[in-house]
Amino acid sequence: MKTDGPHGPAGSNPVLSANSIVCLFRVLWSLLLYTMFSICSHRQFQIVTLINIFGVVTQVSKIMATIRTVNTQTFPLILAVDRGGRPAEWVNWRQAVGHYMAGDVMWTVGDPAAVVRGGTNRLGVRSKVDLHPVIAVAGADAIRFEDYTIPLNNKNLFARDGVCLYCGEKYAKGDLSRDHVIPVGQGGVDTWENVVTACKPCNHRKACQTPAQAGMELLALPYAPSHIEGLILANRNILVDQAAFLSLQIPNARKRQLL
Ligand SMILES: [Zn+2]
Repeated sequence: MKTDGPHGPAGSNPVLSANSIVCLFRVLWSLLLYTMFSICSHRQFQIVTLINIFGVVTQVSKIMATIRTVNTQTFPLILAVDRGGRPAEWVNWRQAVGHYMAGDVMWTVGDPAAVVRGGTNRLGVRSKVDLHPVIAVAGADAIRFEDYTIPLNNKNLFARDGVCLYCGEKYAKGDLSRDHVIPVGQGGVDTWENVVTACKPCNHRKACQTPAQAGMELLALPYAPSHIEGLILANRNILVDQAAFLSLQIPNARKRQLL
C-alpha cells in the first residue's frame, strides 16, 4: 500500500487548512484597515472595517465547526490479532494506520470498516488506508494472554451477565447491583467466581444469605472472563466481522450473554 502518511479522517484537513489560510488573510487585512481607520476617520473606512471584522468572525466560526466535526467523527476500534489469529487487543484508527504504514499487517478479515485519507503527493494522488475490522499484526505474538486479568468492576460485571442472574430480567444499569453468591458475612470473597449481577429487588430479597438459604436459584454460574471475553466486555460497539471472529473462540454457553 502506497501512502504519504496518515493525516487524519477522510476529508478533514484540506477544509481546515483552507479555512485557516483565508482567516489569517482576513485578520491581517482587518488589522491594516483598522490602522488606517485610526488615522483617518472617513465613514467609508468605518463601513469596510466593520464588514471585514464580521468576515473574520464568520471564518473563525467555520473553523470551529470544522474542528468540532473532526473531533466528533468516530471510527470503530480495530481488533489486532497475532499471526495465529489469537486476539491481542483493540487499537484505535491511528494505531491501526501505524501498523499498516510499518508494513506489520500480515492479513485481514472482513471488508474495510473505515477509510483514512492522508496528504497529496507531488503527482496529485491522495493517499488512503483501508482499515479492516480485524488485522493480524506482526509482533503481537509477544502478548502474554495467560497473565491478563479482567478488572472486576460493576461495569464489566453487568456486561458479563447482561441480566439479573436470579430473575433473568433486563434492567437499566442504575437498577442493578453486585451480589456476592456466598455473602461476605459468611466468608465469601469479592472475586469473579463469587459475584453476579442482581436487580435491587432480588438482592434485597436474598440479603445476607446464600441462594440456597434464600430459596433462590442462580440462572448461570459466575466465571472469570478470559482474555477474549475481556476484549468483548471492553468494547460494546463491536462490528459484525469482529463479533463473528471472537465468537469462534469462546464457549457456546457464554456467547448469548456477551455477544
Ligand atoms: Zn432480579
